Amino acid sequence: MQKPSNLLIKVARRLFNDEEEQTQFITALVDPQPFAPCILWCHEKPDISPFLLEQSTPWQPEFVDRLNINEKPGQHSLHQAGYFYCLDFSSVFAASALLAIQQPIPLIFDMCAAPGGKSIFAWKAFKPDLLISNEVIGKRLGMLISNLKRCQVQPICVVNRDPSIFADVFAQSSHLVIVDAPCTGQSLLAKGGKAPGCFHHTSINKSANRQKRIIANSAQVVSPQGYLLYMTCTYSPEENEQVCEWLLQKFPKFMSIKIEHLSKYQSHLTDINCYRMFPQQRLGAGAFTALFQNTEEGEVKDGQLETILAMNKYTNGII
Ligand code: SAM
Repeated sequence: MQKPSNLLIKVARRLFNDEEEQTQFITALVDPQPFAPCILWCHEKPDISPFLLEQSTPWQPEFVDRLNINEKPGQHSLHQAGYFYCLDFSSVFAASALLAIQQPIPLIFDMCAAPGGKSIFAWKAFKPDLLISNEVIGKRLGMLISNLKRCQVQPICVVNRDPSIFADVFAQSSHLVIVDAPCTGQSLLAKGGKAPGCFHHTSINKSANRQKRIIANSAQVVSPQGYLLYMTCTYSPEENEQVCEWLLQKFPKFMSIKIEHLSKYQSHLTDINCYRMFPQQRLGAGAFTALFQNTEEGEVKDGQLETILAMNKYTNGII
């Protein structure tokens, strides 16, 4: 087993008071073990599963299955035919916060969409009148569009702009805005991947500042009474709880929403409703999630939907 770096040990100490938990967390990163694969059924789920299944968690939506560790769903013919999308179970954990929303969501805006997992989850959960999936990095658009096409997601409009554009042209117009923020990607280590410099304070600060910029622009797109979901796949508090606390200070009209089904995952690093999954819990590599509601009363603004549709890189099912 590799020796943990001092920076990793420091992070572990900040995250856990208990020494045994610190060790379990460090071990999960320096000696990564595979996680059970997971799929999201995009359309009708077959009555008899083509895969061996793991037991469901109580909060897992019926359109998600966690599979036996030996299954290779990406190689199954139903995958190519668009029946399901493969994703990490940590993504399901983070996106499951959306299941606390009890009102119709006609318009969803996914601000950081590629390769498409959270867009597809939200589309499946709400069946909106329109899903707008934005990906600012041009070279990541191809995989986003190909996943949305393969899974026959519609009505959909894919765009490719910096979030600041939408704060302007689409202010207060979307019932749900999803921010699955770019981050230092520390959880990649728990999957056996590499994330150079991910525990270095310079990378963490740079990432946190970018996250604040994205979430501030995204907050402006949320309609009165609408929702904002913030997620990352990293562990450092600066990129997670501290971004959420900053959001509430900067935009006091937002309140954080309690997610009953995730209560046992409540973060002890803040007083607001924030939830964390860790790799040593053995469900996935780890994630952070928090849901906010815009408490402002008033009409949902029309926004310049025409302007956004005119920016499209791909559309499907828009009349
Ligand atoms: N939501 C995706 C999913 O579920 O498949 C994963 C999103 S990934 C964690 C973060 C995304 O944010 C990346 O695709 C990245 O290109 C994009 N991104 C990077 N910089 C950004 C910025 N300044 N504004 C918005 N998105 C950005």
